[in-house]
Amino acid sequence: MGKDVLFVCGSDAHGTPIVVNAEAQGMTPKALVARYHQHFDEVFKGMGVDFNFFGDTDDDACHNRTQEIVRALMAEGHVYSKDIELAYCPKCERFLPDRYVEGECPYCGKPARGDECDMGCGRHLEPGEIKNAVCKVCGGKAEYRKQTHYFFRLSQFKDFLLCYLETLGGTASARNYAMEWVRQELKDWCITRNMAWGVKFPGHEDLVVYVWVDAPIGYIAFTEEWCAKNGVDWQSYWKSDAQIVHFIGGDIVYHHCIFWPAMLKGAGYTLPSAVVASGMLKIDDKKFSKSRGNVIWVKDDYLEKGLHPDLLRYYLASYTAHNKEVNFAWKIFADKVNTELVGALGNFINRALTFTAKNFDSRVPQGEIDPEVMTRIGQTLNEVVSGLEEYEFKKAIDSVMALADYGNIYFQSHEPWKLVKGDKAAAGAVLRSCLQIAKALAVLMQPVMPTKMEAAWKQLGLDGSVAERSFQEAIAPLAEGRLLGTPEILFSRMEEKFVNELDAIFKKRMEEAESKGKAKDKSAEKKAEISFEQFGSMDIRIGEIKEAGAIKGSKKLIKLQVDIGGEVRQVVAGIAGAYSANELVGTQVVVLTNLKPTKLFGVDSQAMLLAADVEGKAVLLQPRESVKTGTKVR
Ligand SMILES: [Zn+2]
Ligand SMILES: [Zn+2]
Repeated sequence: MGKDVLFVCGSDAHGTPIVVNAEAQGMTPKALVARYHQHFDEVFKGMGVDFNFFGDTDDDACHNRTQEIVRALMAEGHVYSKDIELAYCPKCERFLPDRYVEGECPYCGKPARGDECDMGCGRHLEPGEIKNAVCKVCGGKAEYRKQTHYFFRLSQFKDFLLCYLETLGGTASARNYAMEWVRQELKDWCITRNMAWGVKFPGHEDLVVYVWVDAPIGYIAFTEEWCAKNGVDWQSYWKSDAQIVHFIGGDIVYHHCIFWPAMLKGAGYTLPSAVVASGMLKIDDKKFSKSRGNVIWVKDDYLEKGLHPDLLRYYLASYTAHNKEVNFAWKIFADKVNTELVGALGNFINRALTFTAKNFDSRVPQGEIDPEVMTRIGQTLNEVVSGLEEYEFKKAIDSVMALADYGNIYFQSHEPWKLVKGDKAAAGAVLRSCLQIAKALAVLMQPVMPTKMEAAWKQLGLDGSVAERSFQEAIAPLAEGRLLGTPEILFSRMEEKFVNELDAIFKKRMEEAESKGKAKDKSAEKKAEISFEQFGSMDIRIGEIKEAGAIKGSKKLIKLQVDIGGEVRQVVAGIAGAYSANELVGTQVVVLTNLKPTKLFGVDSQAMLLAADVEGKAVLLQPRESVKTGTKVR
């Protein structure tokens, strides 16, 4: 469309989910971020998503820009300090920012975690707001302790935001959603957290800024990094009349339409002119969920199965309006590929090219391009441009596909295969018109299917790359007599057998997740109440393992001799998967001694060891301090 565009994106490196995750995996947040960043970069490239710059919010540029913006906000009086009550875990001896804490939403009462009510009303939650807070790390009850934090005077931006949102472009749903929030409640925003990982709050070594301060500042930092490499002044994008357009997921509208413009306004930067929020993704009509296995991985399940990136790009962009839910299912995917890409678009381009190759010596035939065809192409061009300007991508693509359908009908109804026998000139004019349509299709569909349309461009014998041509090229007439390239099939049918194989991989993942979930449910199952007498009837003692050995033929069981205080019992325990026999000797264990003796694998077992059941794997219980063998447990 002839616009100077800089396309930046990046990985959001900070925030508690990353720290919690890194702790769980025994790695540093930095290493965890690097791993995901590389993966995202690879998958984006594999899908032909061509950013000018793909950065990371832990880059120096982002640290520096964030500190500069926070200092500017402080200098303008937009930041103040206040003592607040924060969730604190006495057992872990630390404050519990964001994802470290779980509890109840103070607004709707639904279970909420940290900074958002993601299962209920969807509100952003301020530190200390969550009720009945529980430490996510140890599961212990949190207490509330006073601490000094810094706040951004968001409430003073209410009038500004109401005016600004009125003029904000992009998807109406994002704008209206944000406006509703601003009208209802606009509290000052706590912008500091007690954490080591993140961008340091200026002048406070023990505080970092809240992740939603530095995450969007990444957009500026990535621009700066690209500009530094390319000798461009970054201020020409962020302190000028440039248009800033954000493409985001529908779940982060609050941050992009409220926090972000208020920060930019307060610090004196260019305000976004549009926020385009996409709808949620569903797989097989069910909410996308990693834990439930309701997920299809672009790398493993798609690209590595040899599927072309352009097909998925087409699916996602054409499935529905950008702000509506996208549903992905292999059957629908195959149907769209076979009907729309193979049957309509690919078929038309291939028919026009092969017919010309056969009957006109692979040259664009002589003859006037049908004015009706030119009008029709011009109309499509206008629809594509207006569709893109309104961020209605489906509208633009539908219009291009309608042109392909028109092409098929034009070819079919003008019957060039009959004309060529009697009136070759008339057949030539029909074919030149069809080739013009094919050229327009390649130009207008290029942003959605860059590789496939580049191939079509080459088959049409055109110079250079279609990616470098403007949409206006669609109405530039193909020169008569021009030599065409070799026609080749652009899209191949997806065979049912292959589609079923792909679907089976997905279904299997769902089933595995479900059985895992069931195992979890079972362990969470509550049992009927028992009396103290019933509990007291169990003779539980501390024992010490004296000997341990394998049981021939069993992978699960270990035979143990356990001293329970002056008496040695033989115990058969299903712990071979978790422990090796020789590491157990000398270990103190908790033993239920009056369980009825039994035979396991033909070996006598005269007591039972107590263990935690961690997804089917046994973890032996032990007294916290070493105690005398035979000590009673009650
Ligand atoms: Zn809520
Ligand atoms: Zn804790």
